[in-house]
Amino acid sequence: MEEPNAEVGIPTVELRGITFDLMTNTEMEKSSSASIVEPSDVTSAKLGLPNGAPQCETCGAQTVRECDGHSGVIKLPATVLNPHLFEEVVQLLNQTCPGCHTPKQNRDSKRSNGATSQATCKYCSKDGTKQYPDVIFKALTSPRITLSKAKVQHDYNFMDKISITAEVAGRVTDKSNNNGSCEVLPLDYWDFVPHHHPPQSNMTKILLSPYQVSTPPGPY
Ligand SMILES: [Zn+2]
Ligand SMILES: [Zn+2]
Repeated sequence: MEEPNAEVGIPTVELRGITFDLMTNTEMEKSSSASIVEPSDVTSAKLGLPNGAPQCETCGAQTVRECDGHSGVIKLPATVLNPHLFEEVVQLLNQTCPGCHTPKQNRDSKRSNGATSQATCKYCSKDGTKQYPDVIFKALTSPRITLSKAKVQHDYNFMDKISITAEVAGRVTDKSNNNGSCEVLPLDYWDFVPHHHPPQSNMTKILLSPYQVSTPPGPY
């Protein structure tokens, strides 16, 4: 077959597929020309024209025709969960074991094959006593239903009203005492939650901060 560009030596490749992925923080920083930390940074001369400066600080262009603009990366001082992805975050948390981070649906089949990679995971353990019951993550409220556009614009505290909770599943509340306490959980039950210091091990429901939701847990 004829190589169309062989004469001029232009390298050619055959495109077989495209994959889409999320950028990592490092990739975002690599491809950005400026960090947005202060509100005034959004008009930084590094992001392109017009910016009040005579030229673009990244490419040196002096007219908008010569500069398409350059991307920046916004650095928020605290972790914020995107309200539009809130429900997906809850779904993902519920599909993954909090201890060994394997997908829950694969867990049983793997174990039935005799694989023991999760045998040491206390949350996956099926020894009958089930000392470490499953955790169910829940959205306290559904942002898609409650957050109309108008509400987001007029209610600046709306982020306080959406939270993710982690709840112990399948524990029967001891109804003989009316204070709602349950059987005592193992002391390290909530250890999968970063920076959580439970005052007592019989807490069956905790509220997670966005930081706790998004921070990768340490090695187990
Ligand atoms: Zn430019
Ligand atoms: Zn596990």
